Amino acid sequence: PTTQKAKKNSRIKNFSVEKQMRNFDKAKRIVLKLGTNILSKDDSIDAGYVGLMAGQVNSLLKMGKHVVIVTSGAIGMGAGQLKLSNKPSDVRMRQACAAIGQPMLMAEYRKAFEQFGVTVAQVLLTAEVLNNRKTYLNLQNSLETLLKLGVVPVLNENDSISTAEIGGAPSTSLRTSFGDNDRLSALVASKIDADLLIILTDIDALYDKDPKKYADAKPIDTVFEITDCIIKSAGSKGSKFSTGGMKTKIEAAKVASNAGCKIVLANGRTKNVIERIIAGETIGTLFLPKRKLSNRERWILNSTPAGVINIDDGAIRAVKNKKSLLPSGIKSIEGTFEAGDCIWLNNKAKAVTNFSSAELETLAGKHSTEIRKLLGPKRRDVVAIPEDIVFVDY
Ligand code: GLU
Repeated sequence: PTTQKAKKNSRIKNFSVEKQMRNFDKAKRIVLKLGTNILSKDDSIDAGYVGLMAGQVNSLLKMGKHVVIVTSGAIGMGAGQLKLSNKPSDVRMRQACAAIGQPMLMAEYRKAFEQFGVTVAQVLLTAEVLNNRKTYLNLQNSLETLLKLGVVPVLNENDSISTAEIGGAPSTSLRTSFGDNDRLSALVASKIDADLLIILTDIDALYDKDPKKYADAKPIDTVFEITDCIIKSAGSKGSKFSTGGMKTKIEAAKVASNAGCKIVLANGRTKNVIERIIAGETIGTLFLPKRKLSNRERWILNSTPAGVINIDDGAIRAVKNKKSLLPSGIKSIEGTFEAGDCIWLNNKAKAVTNFSSAELETLAGKHSTEIRKLLGPKRRDVVAIPEDIVFVDY
């Protein structure tokens, strides 16, 4: 009987822990990411679905919550309008499709929310806008104002002008587009200090192995930490018109969890899914947040680096131990960047450099005392301070 009691207790305890983890009463600010797959039906937008979703968002608004939607589907809509049978692979064509599809998408959102007397607003973003502090503050101001007005901002990447790639730039470390809306939604959640990011997709949860391949794959209710094992369990492919797959969702969860934001990944086709998540039902996969990084650390971590400073093992050890990066540890420089830009330190950490790439070419391998001799007085005596260095897998 004692063991039975203990078992029962642990069940009750787990149940209450689960309840606590999924308590979203205090989640004021929610980012909702809607993927192409769940927004579309027969290669065009599923207006009925958008209507149902708008109703659920409206009930969150009535609860006093702020909701920001990150939508996909512009390219898919455009491709459908042009009667293309697949998502075009040519970047220019995809940009053209996005330009055609985006207003179609917004028209559906407007219609759907109008039924509830809710106004929507379109905000199109590029990676540069979030990387640059000034434009990011402008964005923050406009989002804050919209939310205060009770408006639902509907965000997407400005694909027609995000020139790098829409999905899979040649070098993902140096790309200038978000690449996929999973990442965009996580960056937005981080920037606006959201409490919860809900990613709605066409699968029920994260599984311990690929459910399409293995019949015995089991859904994971809660991810306490995004480990390599979790990353491995995610397949990578999306479907016909969509860009991301499970992998981009896990990466997004990582970005948001570093901002102290909870993430729920769930099937957007589950009945009343948004309201049920908010009510605390165990639905989909919940990713718990990590220690909240400071705004500056998050800005560095989420920036697109402008280049690479290759440093030696000694320098890596030093910066890991919270020491400054000195020129003596620099082996070589890749790319062209300015002082104040975010750069990679090898492929391990991101940092803000006090010197441009041209200056670092001169300084590489030199002693710190040489800096002022070579570049003149009033220059900083270190390449990057510890506060400006963030390890990617911190
Ligand atoms: N921005 C793209 C679109 O609206 C979607 C990218 C994605 O699906 O992740 O079509």
